[in-house]
This record gives sequence, structure tokens and C-alpha cells, in this order.
Amino acid sequence: MTAATRIATEVDFERDGRQTDFLRLPHSVDRSAYGWIPIPIVCLRNGPGPRVLLMAGNHGDEFEGQVALTKLAHSLRPEQIVGRVIILPMANAPAARAGRRNSPVDGLNLNRSFPGDANGSPTAMIAHYIESVLLPQCDAVIDVHSGGQSLHYVPSTHIRRSPDPDRFARASAVMEAFNAPYSWVFEGARETRALNAAAERCGIVALGTELCGGGTVTPRALRIAERGLRRALAHLGVMRLDAADAETLPSRRMQVGGFPFYVYAQDEGVFEPLVGLEDEVKAGQTAALIHPVETPWRAPQEAEFARAGTVVCARVPGRVERGDCLFHLAVD
Ligand SMILES: [Zn+2]
Repeated sequence: MTAATRIATEVDFERDGRQTDFLRLPHSVDRSAYGWIPIPIVCLRNGPGPRVLLMAGNHGDEFEGQVALTKLAHSLRPEQIVGRVIILPMANAPAARAGRRNSPVDGLNLNRSFPGDANGSPTAMIAHYIESVLLPQCDAVIDVHSGGQSLHYVPSTHIRRSPDPDRFARASAVMEAFNAPYSWVFEGARETRALNAAAERCGIVALGTELCGGGTVTPRALRIAERGLRRALAHLGVMRLDAADAETLPSRRMQVGGFPFYVYAQDEGVFEPLVGLEDEVKAGQTAALIHPVETPWRAPQEAEFARAGTVVCARVPGRVERGDCLFHLAVD
């Protein structure tokens, strides 16, 4: 973390007004010896005040946030805000351009690349820029994820359990303000390479979302994303709360724990789900059958829920291999 970033931009984060540019990530390749990868960035500032980073495209196949933040980047004006909003609609730009979870340039997952490396591969350089340049000059970050191509989620927001009770309370209040139909706390989150861990190291509040998924955008997911972002920005003091967004809708507050909350395929084949999103399940209940289509005379393999809970995430593609996540649960 001591090395200085190699990523350059014309954006002056302390200047008032609206600035649009690219983070220029040096990338010397066959077709472009002195080239750079463009990562679009919009910075809006209107005097001192709360400083918020809005990110999407951390995973390139999660499109709800990319659309919501692109619309916001296009429409938001400095006079509508107090403080500063930085918008990165395609944080891992090569992955987002390819519509893939991981970057096709280096194969890496941005959300497993923090704190990153100033002199590393492109994804590591992006992670390093976010953690060493952007997060330290923000008070809060909202990282808009969804299930991507391989998962469907209930529309939800999540935070991780912070060791700092004050920061946890503030993150919890932002999550409540976002008012997604579901929200949960990842208890005992040990992943140190994710954006929310980077935010924790920088001492700032982080909110994540899991807004549907399946590698597409639905009107409902987008409505929840856009409304939630406006409400969260209002809660953080950046914008006024619009009367149309003022009504608080029903929201279920839940928890997600460790391994027993997840169901994995133990064999290869085609997956037949026996439950759907929002179903309440019991411990020992059969979650899915894995059909051995190559040897159809064999019995299917059963995947079971290890505990009771509500299904909040389900796998999309039919074909599975041992180790693929089929479902995960949350509890009230
Ligand atoms: Zn994601």
C-alpha cells in the first residue's frame, strides 16, 4: 500500500462542479504499446459536506447497478447535492465491458483483489486505486452488486459486522434508509479481499447490495436500486429526500451466517431445484436433485439444507459441478 498508483485522471476531487473523465490505467499490449484502459468516472461536488463513493461493475455481469449509476451519472447535477458524490458505474471496466464476473484481461475478480497492488495486474491496480485513493477521501461507499449470471437473489442490501460499534450502527442506518425488501448482516465475515473489508480498513461505512441478478436487468430490480440509492444519499445528507421516495416500505431484516447457510452441489450433472426464492425451508429438507444425465440409469443425487431458513439466493444455470453453490439461506 506504500506504492503510489499508476492510474491517472484529470478529475480534481476537491473542485466544485461536475467533472467527467476516465481513470486511465496504463496497459501496454500488442495493439496499443502506450495504451490505457478507460474506467469512466463522474465527480460531483458542491462545497464541503458528506463524501460518498457509488460503485457498480465490481463484477462485470451484474447489470442493475451499472444501469442505475449510469442514469444517475447522466442526470445528477452539483446544485442538487451537498458535499461530493463520486460515481464509478463500471469499476472493473474490462469485466463490465465483457459482461463477465471476472476481468478477461487478467482473469481476476475485483472483489477478491483488495487491497490490490499499484504495480500488479489491471484488476489489482484498480483495487489499489479504490483502496488507496478513493476510499480514504470518502465517508461512505455503496457497492451495487447483484447475483450476476450464476445467481438470483431476493432484492437485498447487506453490511458486514464491523468491530467498531459506532461504524456498524451508521452502516445499519444507511441500510435501513435504502429500504430494500430484504437486508441482512453477514456475521463473522472473514473475507479480507472484498470492497467491504477495504472500507473497514479505511474506517468508512460500506453498504452492499444483491439486487436480483441472472445476468439481466428487470424493471423491479432497477426501481429498487434507484429508489434505494436516492434514499441512502438523502440519509447521508447529500440530497433532499424526494416526497415520492419518502414512504418506508416493508423490509425484512435478517442474518446470514457461515457454511450451514449454503447448499453446494456434491456431484456433476443437471440441477433440479425443489424450492424457490423466498421459500421457508427446514433442516434436512431436500433442496435440489442433481441428475446424472450422462448415466441416466443412475439415481439423482440429493442436496439438502443443513439448517432452517428463508431461501434468499438460488443458482441460475442448470449445469452444475461439485462445489457449485445452489442456494443460500438467511434467518430473521
Ligand atoms: Zn457481485
